[in-house]
Amino acid sequence: MVRSVRAWGVLALGLCLLAVSSRARAQSLSGAFDGSGSASLDIPSAKSPAALAAAAQAAQAGRDAAVPRAKQSGADLFYFTKEEAAAARKKFGMREETVNTKGLVFDSDVPAAIQAQMRADMAFMGTIQGGAGTPLHQKIFGSVNGADYLRFFETRVTGIGMDDCGSAKAVACVIPYQDPSKMWLTQNFIKFDHPQISRMMIVFHEARHTETRHGNWPHATCPTPFLDANGNDMVSIWTGATLAGEPACDVTPLGSYGSSTILLKNVQKFCANCTQKVKDDAGLYADDQMGRIIDDGARQEMLTDFNQ
Ligand SMILES: [Zn+2]
Repeated sequence: MVRSVRAWGVLALGLCLLAVSSRARAQSLSGAFDGSGSASLDIPSAKSPAALAAAAQAAQAGRDAAVPRAKQSGADLFYFTKEEAAAARKKFGMREETVNTKGLVFDSDVPAAIQAQMRADMAFMGTIQGGAGTPLHQKIFGSVNGADYLRFFETRVTGIGMDDCGSAKAVACVIPYQDPSKMWLTQNFIKFDHPQISRMMIVFHEARHTETRHGNWPHATCPTPFLDANGNDMVSIWTGATLAGEPACDVTPLGSYGSSTILLKNVQKFCANCTQKVKDDAGLYADDQMGRIIDDGARQEMLTDFNQ
């Protein structure tokens, strides 16, 4: 999302272009005006640096506006479309995971309490030991091992900032068309009434969304109706909202919901130094997120993987 401006997208863009062109004109006029005569009132040249800069800015704004921003319903995690991811890739280019990481890099406006929570959570992830894990876990994260988890996160997420992520209930998001390798946290990160491992599930879900070479793994749309095994409406474990028709599902084990489900299932099964509470929490949230995998082949692949 583009903060509160988005709702006013088209109007704001129009105003923005007006502002850009009048500012360019004002700058050009003020630069030329020396009180010596009428020459100072000339219309700015189309080739003046200010006019060229304004034109470039307007062209970029036009390109950015060409892809409509996905509206956030707030029913579940932040959502972007395939088209938005493609536009972001055009704008930023393909990014590879960096080899050398700088650890967790926070913007200066991230509150100390949120930085401390994130550091504590990632320090916890860094302690996990559980051996090789399942084949799908190996493929995505490496071993069930703290060092592999930190490397996965830090080679993808190069900066952490504050945003509202488009919803009053959001916890974290990656917004590819703003910056494909940045993660945004919301104030809910420290108000969130869920266990630590589920918060980590969200940030690893979001980290998967930085992968431009995979189109940032956009969500799939959940079916309508969308019912659980008992015939009840599927609801978000985060927000309680009904998920039928929401872009809050996955059709591949490798996507953001799929990969974080695999992470938690492996923690539940293999973590050798986790408390029983952590393992139980991991299992509870993994089983919940497994319900978002709506492709039969993908589900079967995951179920088979979890038994290896
Ligand atoms: Zn997501």
